[in-house]
Amino acid sequence: MATIFTRIVNGEIPSYKIAETEDYYAFLDINPLAKGHTLVIPKKEIDYIFNVDDDLLAGMLPFAKKVGRAIEAVVPCKRIGVTVIGLEVPHTHIHLIPINSIYDMDFKQPKLQLPAEEFEKLAADIREAYAKQ
Ligand code: 5GP
Repeated sequence: MATIFTRIVNGEIPSYKIAETEDYYAFLDINPLAKGHTLVIPKKEIDYIFNVDDDLLAGMLPFAKKVGRAIEAVVPCKRIGVTVIGLEVPHTHIHLIPINSIYDMDFKQPKLQLPAEEFEKLAADIREAYAKQ
């Protein structure tokens, strides 16, 4: 069965899309640790990041960098924290999280509850910043 992220890429499940290339897709995390918390995935469904082919893996970071630059243009923060966990969804993803301190990367913190309009606005603004690069 397809992962929830494959279903997002295929448009079967909605997402607040940030950017897309032939191989990668970026969208807002639905249970964010911070406003602008974004997930970057390869479209190809591979559970564990270290099982991703070298070429596909090598292209993922430059894409994440461009997405991260767009997030930091919109969300005030010291920098974008980058992490990989992957214990919940078996489809490789990089978390990009606007942070001001190490505690902002603590996944045990309560997640933000944002109204749909705020997700929409964040995604639209980050998309615009991405397109300007
Ligand atoms: P991990 O697998 O790295 O532990 O966490 C998976 C992440 O995916 C979580 O931060 C969770 O909020 C996010 N997530 C799970 N399901 C969905 C979904 O359907 N849509 C979006 N946008 N994010 C999701």
